[in-house]
Amino acid sequence: MTLMPLDITAPGVPGVLELGREKLTAAIAGHDPHPSMRARQIERWVIHGRATDLNAMSDLPARLRNSLAGIVTPLTASVAKRSVATDGTHKLLVKLADGQLIETVLMFEEDRRTVCVSTQVGCGMGCAFCASGLIGVARNLTSHEILEQLLLARNELLEDEKLTHVVVMGMGEPLANLSNLLSALAIATSPQGLGLSARHITISTVGLPSRMLELADSGRKYHLAVSLHAPDDALRTQLIPTNEKTGINAILDAAMEFFRKTGRQVTFEYILLGGVNDRAVDAERLARLLEGRKAHVNLIPFNPVDGLPWKRPDRDAVVVFRQALEARHVTASVRKRKGADIDAACGQLRRQAIQDAAIADKI
Ligand code: SF4
Repeated sequence: MTLMPLDITAPGVPGVLELGREKLTAAIAGHDPHPSMRARQIERWVIHGRATDLNAMSDLPARLRNSLAGIVTPLTASVAKRSVATDGTHKLLVKLADGQLIETVLMFEEDRRTVCVSTQVGCGMGCAFCASGLIGVARNLTSHEILEQLLLARNELLEDEKLTHVVVMGMGEPLANLSNLLSALAIATSPQGLGLSARHITISTVGLPSRMLELADSGRKYHLAVSLHAPDDALRTQLIPTNEKTGINAILDAAMEFFRKTGRQVTFEYILLGGVNDRAVDAERLARLLEGRKAHVNLIPFNPVDGLPWKRPDRDAVVVFRQALEARHVTASVRKRKGADIDAACGQLRRQAIQDAAIADKI
C-alpha cells in the first residue's frame, strides 16, 4: 500500500458543495462583477470538470482564482491513500477537513462503475463481524462530505467513463444519517448534478424500522437492502446488538411496507460466517421467515478481518444454503468478492491507518 497525497485541501476553507449556490455567489460578489455566473462555472468545474484546484478552472479570470484562494476550495476531502486490487477495485482512504478518515470504494464490473460510500465516521451499530463497528462512531458525515466521495471516486475514472451505480454500504449506518444522505443523493441524481438514476442507488441498513418508512415516504425510488444476517432474534442480537430493541419482525414489516409504498423489492443481505449462521438449519429457518414475502436474499461469504474471530464459510455450505432458500421460492444470489487482495471489508483500511498513527505516536 502506498501513501499518495493526491489532492490539495485548504484546512478550514469551505468547499464549493458545502457553501451551495447562494453562499458561493455571495462569496464571489466583491471579487467579480458576475458572481452568479461565476458560481455556476465553479460548480460545473467541481461536479463535471473534475477540478480539485481553483487553478484548474481555466475559464475563470486568474485574478478571481487568486482572490478566491483562502475563501473557497473545490473539495474539502482528499484521497490520503489509494489501494488498487488486482480486480481493479480502488479502495480510497479519504481524509476529511477535520482530519477524520473514512473509506470509499470504487468497483468495476463490465460496464458498471459502482462507488460504495460511507455515511458516518466509524459506526455505532457495533456489528460483531465488522471492522467499522469495532471503533464506534465519531460523527455523521455532512451531505457535502457524502457527495464529495462520489466525486473523488469519479475522479479515479478515465475521462470518458462515468459512475453508473452507488451503494451506500461503507462505514456507518446510512439511516442514522438519513437527512444528510438524502440531500447528497438529491444532487447526485439531479440532471445538473451527476445525473445518476435513483434506481441505481442502493441504501443498506441494519434495519431501523421508522427510518425505513421515512425513506419510503421520501418519494425517491432508491433501492433498500436490509442486513438480516441471522434467521432468528437470538442469533441476530449476538451479531447485531441493536436487534435487541428492534427485533426481526418489526424490520420485516417495515421492509414489506417499503415495498408497498415504493414498488421496489427489498434485498436482504446475509453475511455467511463459517459455522455460525451458514448451517442447513439456518437456511431452512431463513427460508421459512421469508417464504411468501417479496424478497431477494444476497448471500455474502465473510471476508476474514484481523482481530475478529469469524471464518469464511466453506464453498459447499454456500451452495447448500442457496439451494435451501430457492427450494422455498426465496430467490438468492451470492455476492462476488471484490478487492479481495486489499483490505476490502468495511472499515479495515481506516482501522489500519488509525493503528499505524497510534504506533507512530509511540515512536
Ligand atoms: S456492518 Fe455496517 S452497520 Fe454494522 S457496524 Fe459495520 S458499518 Fe455499522
